[in-house]
Amino acid sequence: MSKLVQGYEVVIGFETHAQLSTQSKIFSRASVAFGAEPNTQACAVDMALPGTLPVMNMGAVERAIEFGLAINAHIAERSIFARKNYFYPDLPKGYQISQFEIPVVQGGEVSFFLEVGKETVRKTVRLERAHLEEDAGKSLHEDFIGQSGIDLNRAGTPLLEIVTQPDMRSSDEAVAYAKELHKIVTWIGICDGNMQEGSFRCDANVSVRKPGAELGTRREIKNLNSFKFMQQAIDYEVRWQIDQIEDGHAIQQATVLFDPDTGETRAMRTKEDAADYRYFPDPDLPPLVIGRDWVERVKSEMAELPRVMAERFVKDYALPEYDATQLTQSKAVAAYFEATAKACGQAKLASNWIMGEVSRRLNASEMAIEQAPVSAARLAALISRIQDSTISNNAAKEVFDAVWNASGDQVADAGALSVIDAIIEAKGLKQMNDTGELEKIIDDVLAANPKNVEEFKAGNAKALNGLVGPIMKASKGKANPGQVNALLMKKLG
Ligand code: ADP
Ligand code: MG
Repeated sequence: MSKLVQGYEVVIGFETHAQLSTQSKIFSRASVAFGAEPNTQACAVDMALPGTLPVMNMGAVERAIEFGLAINAHIAERSIFARKNYFYPDLPKGYQISQFEIPVVQGGEVSFFLEVGKETVRKTVRLERAHLEEDAGKSLHEDFIGQSGIDLNRAGTPLLEIVTQPDMRSSDEAVAYAKELHKIVTWIGICDGNMQEGSFRCDANVSVRKPGAELGTRREIKNLNSFKFMQQAIDYEVRWQIDQIEDGHAIQQATVLFDPDTGETRAMRTKEDAADYRYFPDPDLPPLVIGRDWVERVKSEMAELPRVMAERFVKDYALPEYDATQLTQSKAVAAYFEATAKACGQAKLASNWIMGEVSRRLNASEMAIEQAPVSAARLAALISRIQDSTISNNAAKEVFDAVWNASGDQVADAGALSVIDAIIEAKGLKQMNDTGELEKIIDDVLAANPKNVEEFKAGNAKALNGLVGPIMKASKGKANPGQVNALLMKKLG
């Protein structure tokens, strides 16, 4: 199914660092709050003063368990912390505490939908692992001339590094995966998902190969912190690699950075291998032991997961799987849908409106659904007026517009129907449901258009359009199209 680029298959694997939403650091009690003055949130452990010892933050472990449960992974009963040795000024210990051979979360998968041409296909990306580790500090270059500053506030911030198998075959799939993963971690609340502040950053490993060939050599694009850059960076990288190969050059394994200003990726360093880090078990930390009772307790306390909720929407509201997935993009959207569907009893219509008009307008104004000027109760009232034929679909859009743009009137949900009815009344949008009146209009139009009548009777179905148009016009758009059709058929035999 994979789409070739100039005869090459694209292969992508992701490593994502999700900053865990704990109050304090992974091995110390210092705060992880964002934006503090440099080095005001670095304690003796984070500064690696001699003689200090790391102490595991159970909140971080609990979040790793939650993640593992959310993606159907195996949660290791015993995992090991390891030292990843390297020198960098913002890493005073000279090593990062991470997990290597035995990570806490093993396997699992992430599924999502993807638009391919006109079709919607389901894609599943297998995860290799997710492991706990600490973040490093930051080197600051901007405010200094001829020197660099070191800020250790970020040192020891808890991270979950989530690693996929090389299962993605296009930049579209990669971005869809990243969005789905982002949804999962924010939904279960283990990460705030703020990409600008670096709480969710992705490294994309990219290679290309001729179909059927062995995996090509990959280059790793580091620290992609927006979905837009992710797509641009991967697309650029794929074209670059293909050009290199076509020109007869071999790809060298490397770590690269994406420059949003030029839209190019640039090699940062040749890639290290695991051996370069001299990983070994950290003697300061005992194995991380997670009893099954702990996992069971976490499971019982977890909110309904997006995919479980989506399955419930399919079952309880008879929604297509695609709708159910779209409506579970966030808890707020799901709640808005359920409130609307329950209040009007028309789940599919509610879904259509939310995925259509509501999200279009939210996107246009960059608004979250919590701020939508049309409450679920009002949308439900609107839908019920379409359902009982008071208004047509087109008129409903006009009413929706009016409610959306009416600023400031905060009527309680209980008054939703009267708000909608008042707008229908004021705008004169009520559908003509009086058969007598409609019949009179139809008779007049038939009498005025004998040619269309004749043609239709002679078998030209299209001639009907020439009649429906004038009827709708004469009714000022208030005739019920279904009813017009039925009456026309009756009259024309
Ligand atoms: P490292 O930790 O050194 O970056 P891993 O072997 O753990 O290396 O792989 C990291 C990521 O690279 C994984 O997401 C994996 O799926 C992906 N990957 C491995 N080989 C390839 C390849 N040939 N092309 C694209 N991605 C790859
Ligand atoms: Mg890597």
